[in-house]
Formats: sequence, structure tokens, C-alpha cells
Amino acid sequence: IKNSFLRSDVRDLLKGIHDMERIIGRVSFSLFGARDLVALKKSALILPDLWRNLEETQSHLIQAILKDWDNLHNLVDLIEKSIVENPPAAIKEGGVIKNGFNKELDELRSILQDGKSWISHLEEQEKKKTGITTLKVRYNKIYGYYIEVTKKNLDAVPENYVRKQSLVNCERFISQELKEYEAKILGAEEKMIALENEILQTIREKVAKEGKRVQKMATKIAEIDVLLTFSEVSAKYNYSKPEMNNGFEIQISEGRHPIMERMDLETGFIPNDTNMDCDKNRVMIITGPNMAGKSTYLRQVSIIILMSQIGCFVPAKEAKIGIVDKIFSRVGAQDNILKGQSTFMVEMNETANILNNATHRSLIILDEIGRGTSTFDGISIAWSVVEYLHDKTKAGAKTLFATHYHELTELAMILEGVKNYNVQVREWNDRIIFLRKITEGGSDKSYGIQVARLAGLPGEVLTRAKEVLSNLEKKEFNEAGIPNLGQKQESPNNKEKKPDQLQLFREQQNDLLLQELKKIDINGMTPIEALNKLNELKKKIKEDKV
Ligand code: ADP
Repeated sequence: IKNSFLRSDVRDLLKGIHDMERIIGRVSFSLFGARDLVALKKSALILPDLWRNLEETQSHLIQAILKDWDNLHNLVDLIEKSIVENPPAAIKEGGVIKNGFNKELDELRSILQDGKSWISHLEEQEKKKTGITTLKVRYNKIYGYYIEVTKKNLDAVPENYVRKQSLVNCERFISQELKEYEAKILGAEEKMIALENEILQTIREKVAKEGKRVQKMATKIAEIDVLLTFSEVSAKYNYSKPEMNNGFEIQISEGRHPIMERMDLETGFIPNDTNMDCDKNRVMIITGPNMAGKSTYLRQVSIIILMSQIGCFVPAKEAKIGIVDKIFSRVGAQDNILKGQSTFMVEMNETANILNNATHRSLIILDEIGRGTSTFDGISIAWSVVEYLHDKTKAGAKTLFATHYHELTELAMILEGVKNYNVQVREWNDRIIFLRKITEGGSDKSYGIQVARLAGLPGEVLTRAKEVLSNLEKKEFNEAGIPNLGQKQESPNNKEKKPDQLQLFREQQNDLLLQELKKIDINGMTPIEALNKLNELKKKIKEDKV
């Protein structure tokens, strides 16, 4: 990170290195072309320079990579001596092996060369002999070499020409002399290609034998590439070095989403903090309307953890990170319809996997679980999943849970490790303004109706929806002020031991009634007043006012 010149030099060198691992794989399985060998040679030729550049760095990691560095000299030599610089893609036409590498091949090549000039010499000679100036010696795959004479010159064809084929404008002939030479040339050509193939195979075997060495260097190059990328992005995007420890806390100040922050956002990217531990801040329930930034935040936290653990700096002002053993995510609804699984089924499968495998060292991000079913089902499943993850005797894992069911914020009232957060929004002239800031506390509503208004639902429908909403909200707490959603069905044994809430309530009611009765002065009342009082008391009981 501190040495930008070195970074750019190394980057330039790496650009010239091909995927050596892939090449050596192809070579080992004989699925290669001569071009692969040249690419391997060119890559290996860069290795000494790369070593020289990196040698000066203090980094332990780089120094470890430079240990038993191998410039693959003998492979470079072999390929350099044997394979031409720009071989054809296929070997069918030959021309892969360099002149001077194999004597026999050189001889065959010269026969061919001579043969070809012999043919053009023959053409001249026959033209002169016959006086046919348009005579041509040609070649095709079916007839081999032949002499072509146009129809109007047929009279001049000598006797030793043997007719082979008649076309509209011309006739094709062969001669004894031509066929003999053809046999020699074609034989040489076939032999040459076979020999080139043979040579190439021996080179292949030699290179493949050194496969392990090439693979080792490919791994080193890959490691350098990764480290270089880490340092490049860290310097370019102002990442900071996280402090890693064996604790259980995650503290991120002004964390950012590394990809989202590079997008052209209206407000620019708004950074957010994260404070989690295995104690009071185990589960973050993050509420906020759709589009508020919940998913972004969830992903941001897990990406920061991931980046820190693979050895990269992180997009945050500061980060202290207790090592995490696994990151589980349940985000996005990927349909697996082709596999015959519904969205909900996929969601539940993934959730099951998380519940069965998370440890107290894991980080879990859950985005809107339970959405794929009815609201009540969804809330219920989400609720019990959080309870399970929170439970130290079960998972007890650090969990970020984004939801637009703000009912789930009530979990914080009954579970010590659950904290509510919300992505702030402001209402302004019937519009919602997203502030993108995560703050402590649950959001009071889900703003679904506001979003529906933005979408143009009729006013009448919106008013009625508000009424229904307030009816639903009234039923959220029981008489004792405990959220209804959080109640457990007691077993008959427990019931006797625990005070019955309703019972307590009735006793309280009776007390109040008694006090009212005591206060009544019967002597100072007319019979009508007494009757009215009696009526009033009865009414109060009916309306649960006392
Ligand atoms: P949600 O999950 O709450 O529906 P998303 O996380 O998908 O919302 O965010 C919706 C959009 O809001 C994103 O596509 C991005 O454009 C914007 N956004 C989210 N987080 C931020 C942020 N921290 N700063 C700026 N813009 C953001």
C-alpha cells in the first residue's frame, strides 16, 4: 500500500503472465496447442523480473512467496529452442517446430521446398513445350497435382498427358512425371506433419513432467495477484486496516458497502456504524420501509468481515473484528422453480441450514425471512428463528435481521441480547425521504401505506387501510402489557405455579368496585339516585372501567 510505484510495476508485469495453471492443465491432458506452450514460455520469461521487483519488499507474506521461487529456466529453454514464436492454432499444416531443432524435419522441409519450386518450374517448361501459354499446374485434394488446359488449346495437348477430368471450359490432365513427383512431395508433407506431431508430443511430455513446478509458480503468481489487488483497492478507495482479534466483538465505525459506494447515488454513500458482541448486542433487528437501505447494510457488514478475514483492508474508518468462523446469509429470493422448489421452500431450506450449523462465532445475515408466506406465518417463523438464534444454549450467534415487520421489534422487550435499529426516514408532504442512517430503536411503522400512496392507490382505500391498521395495532399487547406475539402457551403444570394475568386483573377490578361501594352514602340518597348509582356500577363492570 505504501509503495505505489512497486504496485504499478508489478501490475504491468502480471499483465504479461497467462493463466499458467490452466495451460499446464491442458498440456497434461494433451488438450493443448503449440500456442499454449508459447504462452507458458512468455509467462515464465517474466518471472525473474517479478522476483527482482518483489525482493525489496518487507512484507512477510511476499517474502514467503519468494521462497523457493522457480524461474522455470529449462522449460523456457526447451520451448524457446523448439517452438516457433507464432505457431498456427492447429498443427495440421505443420510449421510449429523451429528450423534447426530436428535434423530429419529439416530434411523433409527442404524436399518440400524444392518440390514446390520444381512444380512451378514444370509449369514453365510445359508451357514452352506445348506452346499453351495459359497452361497451369494445380492441386486439389481429390486429384492431387494436375495440368489444366483450356478447351480451345486442347489440340496442342501432347500424347503423354492422361485425361483425368472434363470441365465446361477446360480439361485436366496428369503426366507420369507429375505423379511421381507428387508422390514424393505429398509423402514428404505427410511425414513432416507426423514428425512435427511426434516432436511436439515429446516436448509436451517433458513440460507435463514439470507440471508440479509450473503449478507451484502459478499459485505464487495468483497469491501475488490477490495481494496486489488488495493493496490497490485499499489505496484507491481509502480502506483502513482492521484490527483482528480472537474476541467476539465486531466494531465498525463508518462502514461502507464497497460496491454500492462506487455507484452514482443521489446522496452519495452514507456510512454506518456497527457494534455487535455475543452479549447484549447479539441480534440486531433492523426495521425500516422497503428501499430504506436494510439489505445494503446487512451486506456491507458481512462483506467487511469477509474482506478483513481474507486479509484485505476494509471500507470503514475503523474496524475491530473478532474472528468469525462462518458467515451465513439468507438474502434475496432466488427462485428454484426449475428444481421444483418454491421461493418459500428455498428460504426455509436455507434458514434450516443456518439454524443447524451456526455457532456462537458465526455471523448471520437474514433479509426478510418469512416473506414468502402469509403475514402471520411469516412473522411467527421470523420470531421463533430470532429466539432460537439468540439462545446461547442453541446458536447464540451474532445476527443481523432485516425486516419490514416492525412487530418483531417487540422481541427486544423480552430478549436481553436483542437490540432494535432502524434505517431513518422522514415524512415530508406525503413523501418519504430516506436518510440511510442506522440508528438505535425500532421504527414505529412500516410506511407501507405511504409507499402505497406514492404508487397512486385511491384515497378512500388508503383511509380504510389506516383504520384497519390501527385496529390491528391495538391488539398487539395483552392486559399485562406483554406483546401478544411473544406469549408462550403454558403447559398445565406451569399454569398453576404462575399468576394468571387475567386473574390478577379481575382481583384488581373487584378491589376498585369494593372501594366505590364503600364510598356510597345510602342515607343521603333518594331511591332514584340509588338505582342510578347501581346502574352506573353495573355499566362500569361491563365496560371493564374498574
Ligand atoms: P431495503 O433492503 O431496505 O429495501 P436496499 O438496501 O435495497 O433497501 O437499498 C435501496 C437503495 O437505497 C439502494 O439501491 C441504494 O441506492 C440506496 N442506499 C442503500 N443504502 C445506502 C447508503 N448507506 N447510502 C446511500 N444510499 C444507499
